[in-house]
Formats: sequence, structure tokens, C-alpha cells
Amino acid sequence: MLRFLCLLILTTAFANRATFDNYQVHRVVPENQEQLNILKDLEDDPNGLSFWVGPSRIQKAVDIMIPPHMLPRFNDILASINLKSEVYIGNVQHLIDTERPKVRPTVDFGWTDYYTLDEIYAWLDFLNETYPGVVTPIVGGESYEGRQIHGVKVSHRAGNPSVVLEGGIHAREWISPATVTYILNKLLTSQDPVMQDLVQSFDYYVFPVVNPDGYVYTHTTDRTWRKTRSLSNNLCYGADPNRNWDFHWKEAGASSSPCSDSYAGESPFSEIETRSLGRYLDDISDNLVGYLDFHSYSQLLMFPYGHTHEHVSNYDELLAVGLDAAAALALNNGTHYDVGSIYDAIYPASGGSIDWVRGVLDTPYTYVWELRDTGRYGFLLPASQIIDTAEETLNSAVVILQHAKGRLRGSKNNEVQDIARP
Ligand SMILES: [Zn+2]
Repeated sequence: MLRFLCLLILTTAFANRATFDNYQVHRVVPENQEQLNILKDLEDDPNGLSFWVGPSRIQKAVDIMIPPHMLPRFNDILASINLKSEVYIGNVQHLIDTERPKVRPTVDFGWTDYYTLDEIYAWLDFLNETYPGVVTPIVGGESYEGRQIHGVKVSHRAGNPSVVLEGGIHAREWISPATVTYILNKLLTSQDPVMQDLVQSFDYYVFPVVNPDGYVYTHTTDRTWRKTRSLSNNLCYGADPNRNWDFHWKEAGASSSPCSDSYAGESPFSEIETRSLGRYLDDISDNLVGYLDFHSYSQLLMFPYGHTHEHVSNYDELLAVGLDAAAALALNNGTHYDVGSIYDAIYPASGGSIDWVRGVLDTPYTYVWELRDTGRYGFLLPASQIIDTAEETLNSAVVILQHAKGRLRGSKNNEVQDIARP
């Protein structure tokens, strides 16, 4: 524990951090194709703008962060296409300054603050030491800057069907690793019989931060960074690791422009993070029945596919279970989630991890959450909301896992695939 506390102190020293004084986030809703096209052109060549929610289709809201010096030009562009905007965040830096508690809580990992990569990895080490025989360290891959994608496997019984929890593929979505670590902790400590049953029924492979370079960069340098940190074209850093998976790559909702936040990369699996994690997932795919992926923001619970409106074979089942899960999520705090396929519920987006897991590995229960909120804080969700967010999200995950377990009940391990896979 002492070592862990020392780490907390060491990692509070930061340098060269970008500030966002008077940066605003505006919401615009394109009403015709011309407006949509202009917004898409801007996203491809953002030139200082940052798209927090990118343009996708007519009538779908777009959230854009604008530096103060670009505001007049931005307003001119909007006026030229007769598009109005609403200010959602008046000063991004103010939200960054108030996102975390003023005084760092002294309790280790209490989910009242966001944690650095080093702190999360130290906590995983602590779990490995504390739960021998149940928790084992795993490495899902590596990053461009040479970090490892650390995770843990939680297993009470050899040969269980397995579930993967993925967090932090988009660097700035801090509520994602916070939620994944919270759920992991509950898997190990909850006395609730339902949770204990689910822990016995599956093996869990948990990776809180699968884009470690990006996550570190959001802590040290730019809180709003989304992508990986590779540099292969000498133009802009990074590719969108959730547009880079080798399944219908770049067919929809992904950019060819290296400076875009949704840049798909030079080729499928061009990013070592996705390539190495994909290899790891392939290795464990025989028993894999579930893949739960956590993003923010928008309050959506979604399932494949993102590249096409065509339905997966168990679409009706995924939708029904998703609606039940969203109802369970709403019970604690009334938080509303929309449910649907990625393509229908949010926007066409190809090359995401859950599409690859479903399309290539044939994993039946693949879901992705876009966690809180709906845009008033965006990626800068106050740490005071972590526990409520994670707790309500866990309730929805329990519904999905219980359903998967019910479908598997009575089958022997070697029949899992035949029964579970659609
Ligand atoms: Zn995301």
C-alpha cells in the first residue's frame, strides 16, 4: 500500500499541459446535406477545432470544441450555410479545473477521483497479490510508445465461458477506465449473491486502458486527446483505434485524413494497440461469449454492426436484452439510455473493436456503452459522478451477463459455442 501511495504522489507532477481557457463546445444540428458536408469537411481538416461528437447524418447533433481565436471564423462558416449553434460548454478549462476533487482523497482507489495509468496498473498489481489463484496478470498487447496493455483475468473455475471488458480505447473518455475498474472491483468484492454467481459462471478478461499512450497523454499534456500517439505520416499524430480494426475497415464513418479524430489509420490494424490486442483476443476466442466495451459520452447502449444497417443474426435478442439492461440502468438514478445497433443508434462507424469481435470472432454478446453524460460535461464528467455512473452501468451489465448465462445453462463446455453462437 505504501508503494501505491508513493505512486500517487509521484504522478501528480505534470509539465507542458495544454490549457483550454475560453474554449467553447458548441452543438449544431445539420438539417440538410450541404450543412452536413461542410461539417464533414471541417472534421477532415479540423485545423484547431476538435469534434467531440462528429457529423454523421442529417438531424444528428454535432459537438465541436472551438478555440476562442477561431470563434469568429467558425461563426462565419455557420452563417454562410445558415446553421445555428448552441453553446453547450462555455469554458472548457473551467470544467477541466473542476473535474477532479480539489484535495486528492487519501483512500486508495475509492472511485472519487480519476487515476493515472501508473495508478491503475499499480492497483492491478495489488489485485494480483491480494487474490492469488483467482486473479492473474495478463498482457493484451503493446503500444506505439512501448507500454504494455495490462489487464487481469478473474477466474474461479477452469474452462468457464469468458467475457472481455474493454476500457479506455479513446483516451479522453476517462469515465470508461473508471467504470471498468469499478466493475472489476465489484467482481472481486461484492457479497451480492447475483454478482457472486456471475463471478463463478464466467472467466473475465479485464483491460481498463487499451490505449495507454493516449491515456497518459491526456493526463500529462492534452486532456482532450482521443487517438493513439503513432506518427507515421509526419503530419498529425495518431489514428482512431476504434476505426482501425480489420473488419469492413473504413467503409463508413471513418476518415482518411491523418489529422481527423476519426482517422482510420494507414491500413487495417496499422496501430500496434489494435493489432496486438486483436491477436490476444483471437487466442482466447474459443470460449469467448461476451465482449463489453465502454466509451463516453451520449448515454447509449449499442451492439453491432456499425458499418451497415443490416442486422446481425441475433439482432432481436440483442435489442431485447439491451432494452432490459437500459431499464435496469435507469433504476438507480433515472439515467436514460437509448438502445440500438451502432449504425442506427449513434452513427455509421466501421472498424470498431466490437464489430471485429462479432464479425471475425463470432462472439454472440457484444455491447458498447456510451456512458454519461449527454453533453453538458461531455468527456469532462466530474469525478463526483463516477460511482453513480459505474453502479448504474454495472446494473445493466448484470442483466446482459445473466441473460448470457441463461443461454449457456446446461451446456457442457465443449458445447458452449454451438449453443451460444448465433
Ligand atoms: Zn469512444
